[in-house]
Amino acid sequence: MTDVSFVIPCYNEEGNVAAIFDAIHAVFDPEGISVETVFVNDGSKDGTKEALDRLYKSCSGKANIRVIHFSRNFGKEAAILAGLQHAEAARYCLIDADLQQRPEVALQMYRILDEDPEKDMAAAYQEKRHEGKVLSFFKKCFYGLINRMTNVPFREGASDFRMFRENVRSAILSMTEYYRFTKGIFAFIGFDTVFIPYEAEERHSGKTSWSFTKLFRYAVEGILGYTTKPLLFPFTLSVILFFAAVIYLVLRLVIGNALHVPADGSVAVITLILALASLLFAVLGIFGLYLSKTYMQGKDRPVYIVKEILEGNKNDADSEKGRQDI
Ligand code: UDP
Ligand code: MG
Repeated sequence: MTDVSFVIPCYNEEGNVAAIFDAIHAVFDPEGISVETVFVNDGSKDGTKEALDRLYKSCSGKANIRVIHFSRNFGKEAAILAGLQHAEAARYCLIDADLQQRPEVALQMYRILDEDPEKDMAAAYQEKRHEGKVLSFFKKCFYGLINRMTNVPFREGASDFRMFRENVRSAILSMTEYYRFTKGIFAFIGFDTVFIPYEAEERHSGKTSWSFTKLFRYAVEGILGYTTKPLLFPFTLSVILFFAAVIYLVLRLVIGNALHVPADGSVAVITLILALASLLFAVLGIFGLYLSKTYMQGKDRPVYIVKEILEGNKNDADSEKGRQDI
């Protein structure tokens, strides 16, 4: 059996796919560790499809490689799921295509799992981030919020750059939800994990596909997917408002009576109407969010759709032909 299968989600990575393939083999081949690469082309709009097809062809008989082309862009989470479903090895490694996550760190993870059979997973976390202060601040808020609101521990800075054993893979695959939030899935499934620090490199080529809005939406998905506590928020608010209204009314009557001030409630009425209206909209909005999730899950749609799979390109290096090719 192959030692490690690398699952590589690719969205507009034409300039990176061959480079990450070479980088992985350059690190693992000399160590005598057999490798499989599973590229998932997540509906790229650039030349990623052609680059992968070329790579697949050039590997014939030389390396274990699988290529999955999606019919459109389904997102990184869907690409990871598809990759893991099609991968086959003793260990699995999730790695980005852009070489920001170095295969040398993956080798470190491999050694950790090799040395300690009790450990199920080795995960990299970013100690230093090369990003703006605003984004860093929002990420901190996100981790603070999600850790307070959910019952599963989220580790700040932990990426999905990880290597794990079959038990972890089957746990991930057993989570059949439509909205896949990888950080949440890892937090939920648990397992013995060793965290190692790493520093993300500059992108080898191309640019990131995560805009601030996309990250924000991802964070909201994460929170909605793992807790129903926001549903309690309007309820708490309504209790507070109810008591506030009672106290206001009593005080206004008592004080107004004592000071002989006639009760003119117009300001209070307008404020109350506005407060109640905004409260109602908040409740409706939150119900709507959860309802849409239930609706989508109820439809039981596939998480992704495959257009084409290239596989069976097994490493036959022992055969005469394979040896000549190499
Ligand atoms: N990716 C993907 N589908 C998407 C967006 C990204 O498969 O819709 C892949 C992308 O090709 C890369 C990884 O996910 O291999 C991380 O994306 P990116 O480098 O854009 O994110 P960043 O490193 O900036 O967080
Ligand atoms: Mg990247």
